[in-house]
Amino acid sequence: MGADEDRTEGGRTGRALAPADAQAAIEADREATAALILKLRQSGMRDQRVLSALERVPRRLFLPAAYQRHAGEDTALPIECGQTISQPSLVARMSEALELAPTHKVLEIGTGSGYQAAILGLLAGEVHTVERYRTLVDLARERLHSLKITTVTVHHADGLEGLGEHAPYDRIIVTAAGPEVPQVLVSQLADNGLLLMPRGEKGSIQELVLVRRLGGTTDTRILAKVRFVPLVEGVAARL
Ligand code: SAH
Repeated sequence: MGADEDRTEGGRTGRALAPADAQAAIEADREATAALILKLRQSGMRDQRVLSALERVPRRLFLPAAYQRHAGEDTALPIECGQTISQPSLVARMSEALELAPTHKVLEIGTGSGYQAAILGLLAGEVHTVERYRTLVDLARERLHSLKITTVTVHHADGLEGLGEHAPYDRIIVTAAGPEVPQVLVSQLADNGLLLMPRGEKGSIQELVLVRRLGGTTDTRILAKVRFVPLVEGVAARL
């Protein structure tokens, strides 16, 4: 299955998002974002780069119109194609756990709304994010473009195959759950690289695992209990 690297916009009904929409969303989210950052600081988060990235990405821009007024709530919310945008404090924690540097090349499996990808794009040098729904790919590209985030490329492909063409990656983050960490992803990780993924069966509580590749072996740590939508094989078109 070939990855689709078309960065162009359009193909969707209605007008494309403009930088003015992004600015309006930043203003509208200002208070809620400040409250989230305060909450994260109070719970012990000290990673200033992650906190600044959260400040610069308005979550409301990544939500369907019907849910935009809930943008400031620290909960997962429904997005298009029956998927979900993660809880912002979890996005922050996962970004922190990846220990991202501006030199890193990152692979994300499960673009969804593009919110986590936007944060990664501000923290790393080059981000490739893979999504199986064409509709979500188009929306994420528009949103990232309106925020002028140019470090992220959105690919329409099956993330269960990884993304060999840009491997190896310093960091891999999977934002959908599977019963095991796919071996192909570990094989696309650079030596000493980190991979973060929710591991568990469909419908059950999953464990968020952090895998470090050390030559031919791996070291796995369990970080938290989480609940993500499942990884599904193959690509899908518009809904
Ligand atoms: N990171 C997202 C939330 C992810 S929701 C955000 O910030 O909004 C999980 C996403 O993974 C869904 O959009 C789902 O369609 C996608 N997904 C599931 N299986 C996949 C696969 N095999 N390849 C690519 N994307 C997949």
